[in-house]
Amino acid sequence: MASNSGAGHKPTRGILKKSGSDKKIESNARNPRKLPQWMQNGAIKKTLPTFSIPSSCSIVYSFNANDCAVVCNEFLKSLRGPCHIGFDIEWPVTYEHGKQGRTAVIQFCHIPDEVCFVFHVSCMNSIPKPLREVIERVDVLKVGVNVEGDIQKLCRDFDLIFPQSGFVDLGSFANERLMSNERWSLAGLVKFLLNCDLPKVDSIRKGSWHLYPLTEQQLHYAALDAIASVKIYNQILCRSQLQFTS
Ligand code: ZN
Repeated sequence: MASNSGAGHKPTRGILKKSGSDKKIESNARNPRKLPQWMQNGAIKKTLPTFSIPSSCSIVYSFNANDCAVVCNEFLKSLRGPCHIGFDIEWPVTYEHGKQGRTAVIQFCHIPDEVCFVFHVSCMNSIPKPLREVIERVDVLKVGVNVEGDIQKLCRDFDLIFPQSGFVDLGSFANERLMSNERWSLAGLVKFLLNCDLPKVDSIRKGSWHLYPLTEQQLHYAALDAIASVKIYNQILCRSQLQFTS
């Protein structure tokens, strides 16, 4: 399944600015009850702009273990204290009952550096040590929807030690800080908190993430999830601070 065709080559690095299509995912509002004001505002808009990658944000695609180690080391060395990153993984869908493909892509976004790393780990023999360190370090806070499940999967797939902390599930964080009671998807959070539509194209989502190279659409899709996650986290922080100061 893993492809090593990238070994020995420099990764392609570039900036993607395209946005995808426009499938909408509704939030999980089951009970007919009065929604908080911030949710009502999102609900009344019918067509929302598509969430896109900021033009200032670079996508760094790496499919070679040495390059991955170098960029992760640089990232870790640049940190001046605890930080948070939008974190997500992708894997190919297998249609065998009860089976899940091995993690093929690990992506994370660090807003202050305006960079989103997309590591094609199915092209590497194992997870390079510095990337492992990013995953395991509790002062590098991983934020994402169901991020704990993603990290558990990574630990199973690559024999990592599960870090008991150092991650924040955005759904629980939104409910706790904004006093809602929803089962959030990332698209739902983007809709209600950023007033944007996060494109979720099934053919990309369920695509062949293990095959080298990733297409431009796959890179874009992977990066969008990580960027959206960190933006949602910042937005929740911002709104909850406003709530307590106003
Ligand atoms: Zn994703």
